Amino acid sequence: MNKTAKKAEIRLEGIGVSPGVCWGPVEFLGKTLEEPENTDIPRSGVDAEKARLSLALIATRDQIIELQSEISSEEDNESHVGIFDAHLLLLEDSTVLNEVLRVCETQLKSIDWAYYSVVKRYIDSLRKISDPYLRERAVDIEDVAKRVLKNLRWSNLEDGNLRLQTDTSIILAHNLTPSDTVGLNRSRVKGFATEVGSATSHTAIMARSLNIPAVVALHQIPDVCNAGDVVLIDGYHGRVILNPAESTLQEYGELVTLDEELSDSLSLLKGHATTTADGKRVTLSANIEFIEEIEGVKNQDAEGIGLYRTEFFYLQSREQRSEEFQFKNYKTAAEATGEHGVIIRTLDIGGDKLYPELIENPEPNPFLGWRGIRLSLDRPGEFRIQLRAILRASAFGKVRLMFPFISTLEELQEARVQLELAKDELRGDGISFDENIEVGAMIEIPSAVLIADHLAREVDFFSIGTNDLVQYTTAVDRVNDRVASLYQPTHPAVVSMIRETVEAAHRNGIWCGICGEAASDLDMIPIWVGLEVDELSVGSAQVLRTRRAISTLDSRACGEWIEEVTGLGTAKEIRGKCREMATANYPELLL
Ligand code: PEP
Ligand code: MG
Repeated sequence: MNKTAKKAEIRLEGIGVSPGVCWGPVEFLGKTLEEPENTDIPRSGVDAEKARLSLALIATRDQIIELQSEISSEEDNESHVGIFDAHLLLLEDSTVLNEVLRVCETQLKSIDWAYYSVVKRYIDSLRKISDPYLRERAVDIEDVAKRVLKNLRWSNLEDGNLRLQTDTSIILAHNLTPSDTVGLNRSRVKGFATEVGSATSHTAIMARSLNIPAVVALHQIPDVCNAGDVVLIDGYHGRVILNPAESTLQEYGELVTLDEELSDSLSLLKGHATTTADGKRVTLSANIEFIEEIEGVKNQDAEGIGLYRTEFFYLQSREQRSEEFQFKNYKTAAEATGEHGVIIRTLDIGGDKLYPELIENPEPNPFLGWRGIRLSLDRPGEFRIQLRAILRASAFGKVRLMFPFISTLEELQEARVQLELAKDELRGDGISFDENIEVGAMIEIPSAVLIADHLAREVDFFSIGTNDLVQYTTAVDRVNDRVASLYQPTHPAVVSMIRETVEAAHRNGIWCGICGEAASDLDMIPIWVGLEVDELSVGSAQVLRTRRAISTLDSRACGEWIEEVTGLGTAKEIRGKCREMATANYPELLL
């Protein structure tokens, strides 16, 4: 719909969790029906509005049919298929549609408003009825209405012709769970911002993997912002600008140009090993959540995959949990990553990644509860399905596996017992796998750091999960934006924990990597070089920046400098010291 008066620019501050800048029309992802603007139209505009409704109804019908056929191809979904039949009937209900057209014609209101006001009245009266069956129908009508209103927002008159816009858009939401983010249409979403959230929530991590700008912790998105308004996301500085002025867009255009220039210069590093200025080698790999990200891993020239988060098989459909489905994905990863290979982490569900069973029976403290290896050991049957899938993939390329959320030695030993059982099962079935598959432990809980010497004797490598290590060392919930300022990767206690872990690994003759988000924190890279961390695994969009930063540093100088850093008493002092080092060596990366 054409908006006449230009709205005032509004700037909101949050936390930038995925770098980059983008702008475009906004869509809200919410649970309730969104109220469109109550717009008057001229009598001459009635026909165009009616045409927009027809277009939106056709688009909605197509979408429902498409969804229905997707769902019917999955198992156990018979009952859901019927729901979509009911939705199609509701969509074409002539009583409702005639009333909508009447409101538009007689009150001269936009078709969006007419549709919303009529349908809302139906929904409200159904909700008041005591019969639970009829009350339930309100949910179905609301579902259909949300789709129609969304399609109306995207239908526009262009050059006198009606067409449905398919442009990409910006998503604003109160919150996006990791499963919401999985469900976003990745080719259509340019960027997103949420009212709550934090830098190490899995939603933020996924935004970085998908390489789309994102801002979280905006606290409140003003009501004046309507669907279709232009919104700019500045993921570098954690800023969201509603209705950006021409001058703002111009200013941001310059930042986009700088960013593109930097990317061009970084691409010259492709094909080169990652070494410090004095020639010390560091392995630089990438983290993935979805198999489609392999392309990004290769394109950004990472040395394989340092962390394959496998939880997302368990957040989507049941079929994805099967051995066969997982095996196919792991095999693809193994074949695509050549000599460097892939490190597959066993299921780390829990915390902010809740699968349906956990959502129905919530725990009081999910981050301290049934998570990661605890859950796998409690469900050995399901655990071995995953272990078998990983082992089978090891026959097709270099595969390592690692266990998450280890807090005791017994857990690691029990996990290894399950691994041996899975190997026996495969041998029994005559299925081949890598008999010498390397096994690692994630170090992300302080108790694991303090028994690192014992753990090191059980495994071939450590991978430090700083996202959790910061949370559990400092008692700061990683997804709670109220305490976000206390979530400090440069806290001296965290740096000591990491130092202790790397030293324990080396004392015991194994290698140690970092796969948490701090691995690519540009300020902290001199610390990793100074501590002689062997591997960094980062989001693929961060690979080349990290390679460039490392290439400017002298490992011996960092080794001496680290003594000074570890003597400091606050996160702020350590961050400041790191920033000095980063600015002296790679200022161009600190946009
Ligand atoms: C971590 O904790 O740092 C980590 C890499 O694992 P996740 O973010 O999936 O908890
Ligand atoms: Mg973790």
